[in-house]
Amino acid sequence: MGTTHHEPQRALQPPTLPADASEPLAVWLIPVLQDNYVMVLQRGRRAAVVDPAVAEPVVAALEERSLELEAILHTHHHSDHIGGTPGLLRRWPRTAVIAAAADRERIPLQTRSVAGGDRLQVLDEPVEVIAVPGHTRAHIAYWLPASGHLFCGDTLFAGGCGRLFEGTPEQMHASLQRFAALPDATRVWCAHEYTESNLRWATAERPDDREIRERLAEVVDLRRRGLPTIPSTIASERATNLFLRTQNGAELGRLRRSKDGWKACAT
Ligand code: ZN
Ligand code: FE
Repeated sequence: MGTTHHEPQRALQPPTLPADASEPLAVWLIPVLQDNYVMVLQRGRRAAVVDPAVAEPVVAALEERSLELEAILHTHHHSDHIGGTPGLLRRWPRTAVIAAAADRERIPLQTRSVAGGDRLQVLDEPVEVIAVPGHTRAHIAYWLPASGHLFCGDTLFAGGCGRLFEGTPEQMHASLQRFAALPDATRVWCAHEYTESNLRWATAERPDDREIRERLAEVVDLRRRGLPTIPSTIASERATNLFLRTQNGAELGRLRRSKDGWKACAT
């Protein structure tokens, strides 16, 4: 896991290996802090990360697999999503830093500033930027249409949605509906492990909803075994996420207030 083996290994690798693009894209996660997830995109020995809260566990995980970091993608400016970037740049100084142009002030070190509708390539994979205001005013998500992954930051959580710090319920409703329109099988990589608490609230909110109750049981089982509940899928969220099922901003606002005031104080 040390750093000493990296320089020689890099020297042995030709800088442009055309065969590399034919390697499949893998996505996996690194749990950090209380309940944050840093997502890793990997193609061969090349890696990109989404929302690195901290640097050290990310450096360790990439070095353990002899990966080279090429890009950091940010969904929004909160410190538990950008805090690791300076440390990652110290280890991999040529890494691209992708974030919302509208957040240039709040997300420093950007090398590629983007906006909703932009298309880019990360590890030779097409990526579409979706503007999803609500949690923050400049929050963006990254959709990988070819491989069916969505990195949604703190906008959509499994069974829940982000708090409305800077946006309106109408904006959050519109943002979630963008996600609801994505293909069923899209894997949803949320930046926090909030699923069990979200579904406990949802079962209190809709005690007769069998699908939510069944999903909660699956999630409790995963957590008991120490496993992440992420990624979710768009199909699963459409079926069991009350926020995704709302008809309009007013309804979403009522649910959001209910969730804000809810305490998981029972057994
Ligand atoms: Zn946040
Ligand atoms: Fe967060």
